[in-house]
Amino acid sequence: MLSGMIGFVVEARFAPEKATIRTALPQHLNHGSQLSEVVMPKKSRIERFWEKVQKTDTCWNWIGSHDRKRYGFLWDGDANVRVHRWAYEYFVGPIPKSLTIDHLCRNPSCVNPEHLEIVTNRENILRGEGIAGRNARKTHCKRGHAFTKENTNIENTKYGAMRRRRCRICRNQLERECRKRKRVFSESQAENVNSG
Ligand SMILES: [Zn+2]
Ligand SMILES: [Zn+2]
Repeated sequence: MLSGMIGFVVEARFAPEKATIRTALPQHLNHGSQLSEVVMPKKSRIERFWEKVQKTDTCWNWIGSHDRKRYGFLWDGDANVRVHRWAYEYFVGPIPKSLTIDHLCRNPSCVNPEHLEIVTNRENILRGEGIAGRNARKTHCKRGHAFTKENTNIENTKYGAMRRRRCRICRNQLERECRKRKRVFSESQAENVNSG
């Protein structure tokens, strides 16, 4: 029935630990048996994961392939997946859509599930090392006034959804200086008119 036909069935998808390669050989090559079965040991994802992890006392550093920001990748059988996300789902559980994984240790190459936490995208940005995150963690304005509730104005910026905190002491001082400059200017104009 199978004689004269050469086919390969790779059952790696459902049992990645043991990929079974079935080879149907033509009868005259197959010495009577219609189906010869070769079992090739194939490394599982978790085996390949551990090969690329260097554990320290705290972080588990990924030494496999990674992007420019040092977030690692693991080949999933279909595509490269972000390895810290894969590790979270493997050791902890599924990540709901629309949520992201934050590195509590701020080490992007770390895949230790204890250092990974599910957060909303906004939380992640505010905790991160970007401008928004650094600004959100500042407790004082650049002239050293504390960002207390009374001393803080929340202002819209020209970047749509982005808002920023503004120190009231500084803003009032700026406005005073601005008024003073205007007054000096109009007084000098008046002097020019008088002397001219
Ligand atoms: Zn870590
Ligand atoms: Zn200030």
